[in-house]
Amino acid sequence: MSSKIPITIAKGDGIGPEIMDAVLAVLHAADVPLEYHFIDIGEKVYLAGNTSGIDEKAWETILKTRVLLKAPITTPQGGGYKSLNVTMRKMLSLYANVRPCVAYHPFVETRHPQMDLVIIRENEEDLYAGIEHRQTPEVVQCLKLVSRPGCERIIRYAFEYARAYGRKKVSCMTKDNIMKMTDGLFHHIFNEIGKEYPDIEKDHYIIDIGSARIADTPERFDVIVTLNLYGDIISDIAAQIAGSVGLAGSANIGLHAAMFEAIHGSAPDIAGKGIANPSGLLQAAVMMLVHVGLAEKAELIQNAWLRTIEEGIHTNDIFREGKSRRKVTTREFAEAVIANLGKKPEQLKGFRTSSYRMNPSHALTNISVKKELVGVDVFVEWPTKDPASLGELLEAIEHPVLKLKMISNRGLKVYPNPMAVSFCTDHFRCRFVSKTDKGISHQDILVLLDKIGQKGIDFIKTENLYTFDGVNGFTLSQGE
Ligand code: NAD
Repeated sequence: MSSKIPITIAKGDGIGPEIMDAVLAVLHAADVPLEYHFIDIGEKVYLAGNTSGIDEKAWETILKTRVLLKAPITTPQGGGYKSLNVTMRKMLSLYANVRPCVAYHPFVETRHPQMDLVIIRENEEDLYAGIEHRQTPEVVQCLKLVSRPGCERIIRYAFEYARAYGRKKVSCMTKDNIMKMTDGLFHHIFNEIGKEYPDIEKDHYIIDIGSARIADTPERFDVIVTLNLYGDIISDIAAQIAGSVGLAGSANIGLHAAMFEAIHGSAPDIAGKGIANPSGLLQAAVMMLVHVGLAEKAELIQNAWLRTIEEGIHTNDIFREGKSRRKVTTREFAEAVIANLGKKPEQLKGFRTSSYRMNPSHALTNISVKKELVGVDVFVEWPTKDPASLGELLEAIEHPVLKLKMISNRGLKVYPNPMAVSFCTDHFRCRFVSKTDKGISHQDILVLLDKIGQKGIDFIKTENLYTFDGVNGFTLSQGE
């Protein structure tokens, strides 16, 4: 039986095949014990009529090997093609996106010479669940879903990553001063899990000031863990200011599979010219080697690559007259890295991992709480946009256990005793609560909805109001 580790390789489109061949040449020269299974994904598959860009056989290969090294692909313009990356993330449940953003000063131009951070972004939840609805002529909504297991998994991954890569600090970024329940849960779990890692420093930033600090003084950060949308934005900012978009790799990690790729695209403008920089994909391959337990090989290759960058052997995209030494093609760059195998960088910080083996598949917390139904928010369309007439109509409803508490519009209380309002839309949230301090039943809500319907009011949706161990599982509206 082969002692080689099976992995899937997708050569992709545009510059993909050129940079993948360069990376495979380096892996081969480093005698890395991998067994390659090649698949076709991307443009060809899209244009053959498969709107997801990947066929059954390719899926089978990925699911068998569970590790994919993927070159960039081209998504054809127009007509219903789905993003392959989004499909991969969802189908393989790749919950963690890991993107190191490092400056290679003075060999690659950057305004932040000391920058060396890693962004770990939650990849499956938040506003990216894709649950959107148009509810009234004027109002659309997008659901932000954040789960305890989702937070636990990504936050634990960040701490495990910090330990495995010899990093000192994990910074959490949220907007929990505004989104107290969703972002609040993420921050809370960061504090909770952080206690299990006393060797790692921790801090928390509100995402707006955190992003500003990344742009201004990125050297203050080490590992950053954040929710999906914020992570999407700050990882592009960080990669850009590191000055190394073409040099950066990223990993998408799941419990059962992982995908590694460069962060750049298929660069059709230089495809076929043999001048593309294979470094981003090589960085991804190095992350993959650590992931599959070949950290020594990762170190060998990474140090050779750093040495090559130091020697001023540069592809066209990072070549600077007077500063770089030799302008090379994709193949020549790979050959220079191969010649440097066994050497270490002299100025740049060398490869680092520790002997710590990551253990991200830690058991999730079992939650047992007493949940009680105490009311309901009924969202309605009210075309006249006049809260007083809606309020009077709803107060006239006779219900055995529920009474109207308040009505809000865009989160602001407008009935009774309205706060100053700039304007109302046609979308109102009407909060009904128990008349006593006892809980209510589903049947009580159905009776209420029936009565609201009989008044000719279009109810769009309901959100049940629960308490969990006596604590409100819902926020109060401004002014409530
Ligand atoms: P791009 O990253 O391909 O190119 C942007 C610029 O950077 C171009 O000038 C290009 O020549 C240069 N560049 C990129 N990688 C380089 C490298 N390794 N060496 C030297 N120069 C490099 O972005 P784009 O032009 O916006 O997108 C092109 C295609 O790539 C599109 O079809 C897009 O959908 C796809 N794309 C794919 C992925 C992916 O597969 N993960 C990611 C981003 C974009």
